[in-house]
Order: sequence, then structure tokens, then C-alpha cells
Amino acid sequence: IRVYAQTLQTGLLQSDPARAADCLRTIVRETEWLDAMIDRVISWRAASKDRGLVDLRCGPIRTVVEETVARFLRMVPPDEVQMRCAFESTGAVRHDPGSLEQALLNLLVNAAKYSAAPKRICLQVRDEGPWVIISVEDSGIGIPAGEVRRIFEPFYRVKAAAAKTSGAGLGLAIVHHAAKAHGGHITVDTKEGVGSRFSIFLPVCAAGKGRGG
Ligand code: ADP
Repeated sequence: IRVYAQTLQTGLLQSDPARAADCLRTIVRETEWLDAMIDRVISWRAASKDRGLVDLRCGPIRTVVEETVARFLRMVPPDEVQMRCAFESTGAVRHDPGSLEQALLNLLVNAAKYSAAPKRICLQVRDEGPWVIISVEDSGIGIPAGEVRRIFEPFYRVKAAAAKTSGAGLGLAIVHHAAKAHGGHITVDTKEGVGSRFSIFLPVCAAGKGRGG
């Protein structure tokens, strides 16, 4: 952010409005990442003190999902990600919109972070028995079989991937915590070199039931 802002500050791009506009777009995109990173740290602090979830309400999750996808798409350069979304759920979920947004955003960010171009991400929300399932599938680097069981631990990062990407190893710990706090769970189906599918299972609730119970 600083380098792009300083470049604009020099005035050297005054004669090149297209590049100046490009700089500004990058600055705005990077502030979205910064925002997501700050949210991540705040969520983790709250989760680790068991103050991770505050306000559960029963209702549809379409708006949260759509807003999260829009937020995610503001974080990535246009054309970098090919995103497919299938919202097939009619179920209502007792959920905390902020916590759900954080969990889904973490999965989308990881799908982009751990994929090489062309980054294909498929988001699906569907009903299955007592569950509403949100799954994020990528065709990225996948996770070595021997490390899968550890990825939800706080601060755990797969060594080979950690060398090439930045991160604190908190994203999936937050998703895991959020899924549990909603009375659900998270699963992963992954193959090294092929891709990964993370699925958050959330229990459906009878619409009309409000907070609490
Ligand atoms: P971070 O991304 O900050 O390292 P996470 O807790 O989000 O932390 O993820 C833990 C580790 O799991 C990552 O370091 C990465 O190795 C692996 N991982 C997570 N999501 C994916 C994915 N979609 N594809 C491949 N590896 C992943």
C-alpha cells in the first residue's frame, strides 16, 4: 500500500492516468486484505477466549454468502479468479452473520492463496438432511495426506506451502471454531496436486425460531 501510495505521491504518474488508476485500484484491493487480516486476528482473539460467537439468529444465509463473495472479489484482481457460485439451499440456519462471513471468507481466501492461475473456485450451498452445507472447492495445490489432520490446529501451516505464501496459520482454526460454535462441523476432501474441497456443515433450524435455543 505504501509503495503504491508513494509512487502516486511523486507525481510521476500524472502523465499516465491509466497507470495511476491501476495504482489506486491496487491500494483499494490491498486495504481489503488488510481489513480481512485484522478481522482474522480479532476473531481469533475472541475465539480463543471463548467469546467467538455472540448473536445467533435463525434465518436464511443467502445474504451473508453473497456479501462475503462480493467482499472476496474486491480482494482479488479482476480476471485472477474464476468463481462459480451455486446457491441451492432453501434451509434456514441459526447463525451469527459476522462469524459466518469470517469463516467463509477464510475458505475463499485460502482457495485463492493456495491455487496457481487459472484459479478456479466453486462455491456451493446446499441442503442435505439436517444440514445446510457450504462448500468451497478449488483446483489448487491440495494438502499432503500426512498433514491434513493438523491443518485446523491454530498456527499450523503446511511446510511446503508456508515457504511460498504468507499467513499465520489461524484461518482454518477460526473456521473450525465457528463451525463448532454453530453446532456444526467442517470437513475437508483434498488431494495433493489436484485440489481441495472444504465443507462447513450447519444444522438447519425451523424458521421463525429466534435467538437462543
Ligand atoms: P494460513 O493460510 O495462514 O497458513 P490456515 O489456518 O488458513 O492458515 O491454513 C492452514 C494451512 O492449511 C495452510 O498453511 C495451508 O498449508 C493449508 N491450506 C489451507 N487451505 C488450503 C487450500 N485451499 N489448499 C491447500 N492448502 C490449504
